[in-house]
Amino acid sequence: MFNVETIRKDFPILSREVNGKPLVYFDNAATSQTPQQVIDVIVDYYSNYNANIHRGVHSLSQEATDKYEQARQKIQAHFNAKHAHEIIFTSGTTHGINLVANGFSSLLTKGDEIIVSALEHHSNIVPWQMLCERTGASLKVIPMNQDGELVISEFDALLSEKTKLIFVNHISNALGTINPIEYIIKQAHLVGAAVLIDGAQSTPHIKPDVQALDVDFYVASAHKMCGPTGQGMLYGKEEWLKKLPPYQGGGEMIAEVTFEKTTYADLPHKFEAGTPNICGGIAFGAAVDYMNAIGFDTIASYEQELLEYATEKLQSIEGLTIYGTSKHKTSVISFNLDGIHPYDVGTILDKLGIAVRTGHHCAQPIMDFYSIPGTVRASFAFYNTKAEIDALVEGVKKAKMMLS
Ligand SMILES: *Cc1c(COP(=O)(O)O)cnc(C)c1O
Repeated sequence: MFNVETIRKDFPILSREVNGKPLVYFDNAATSQTPQQVIDVIVDYYSNYNANIHRGVHSLSQEATDKYEQARQKIQAHFNAKHAHEIIFTSGTTHGINLVANGFSSLLTKGDEIIVSALEHHSNIVPWQMLCERTGASLKVIPMNQDGELVISEFDALLSEKTKLIFVNHISNALGTINPIEYIIKQAHLVGAAVLIDGAQSTPHIKPDVQALDVDFYVASAHKMCGPTGQGMLYGKEEWLKKLPPYQGGGEMIAEVTFEKTTYADLPHKFEAGTPNICGGIAFGAAVDYMNAIGFDTIASYEQELLEYATEKLQSIEGLTIYGTSKHKTSVISFNLDGIHPYDVGTILDKLGIAVRTGHHCAQPIMDFYSIPGTVRASFAFYNTKAEIDALVEGVKKAKMMLS
């Protein structure tokens, strides 16, 4: 049985106060909080077996290497990748996207097309613009509708033999919309295009199966799923990872690796130049263990309950508009109060100990679509409660009174 009060005891930060009030943490879409189980793994690493990996013959180095590679296997199992070497440890989603974008520099030419969606995070727009500049390929955008959903008929119209790559987030960080990636991947493969899915917002809520999705690349950040910052993963199909040139370190790094000696010599090390975030990788594995122990079905259904509860309560506030009203969405609510700047609402909420995000959420095109400067975004995790949502609703009412 899921008991949120028991879960909350795992998160030391949730018992602190902010500005003299109990912390209400609703900025989970920006970064999640860290349970004691993951903190313990980080402390254990630095206390007991901190050493560089894949290099030393000494015991500490081997211990660290074993733990790091075990973490890779945990991530592999979690995402159901066919091989452990299809999991590349990165510093986060942004790094993974750039790694793939850079790799495609040598595979694209003038006349090729890349399709992205109107719902993308900046980190999923800028690398493709840079890639287009380098290769002469052009960028096409799947538009969105008023509910914050992709207009799939437009996607169908954009897709052609010229399409080489498609980049879509699984779930929008600004609005919480769940995109129909299964359909997008299927259609893309009919014209021979590769698909990269940005899973930064999906992986905290659901457990993607990369083989069932038949996705070519999938990226995520540990810090949005109870793990540390500066750590993430790129899943790539073996055939694609073999095709892409290395991102960092280039020739030097290849010369260092002996291709013949082991089956591991090529992947994943080809993409992991330099000393990685060893502790981060191990802690990422621990975070995945922690979330799986609770269960993603349990997490998703509880968060859905929070979403429905908060949507209903917030909607009852006069002059409050919610952006992103798709039926398929996760526990993110982006909203504004009529005539009031989101930043001012956020400032008042902060005084009440309530952490929300305000601004464009690195998704300016979405804000342009709605002709707004930004929104207040409250994003819920499985350790949040309805009582906290009540505090938010009271806070928003207070902000409205003070600012209008
Ligand atoms: C947070 C986020 C990113 C960037 O993740 P980093 O960990 O900062 O690299 C990219 N895309 C989406 C949808 C996000 O929510």
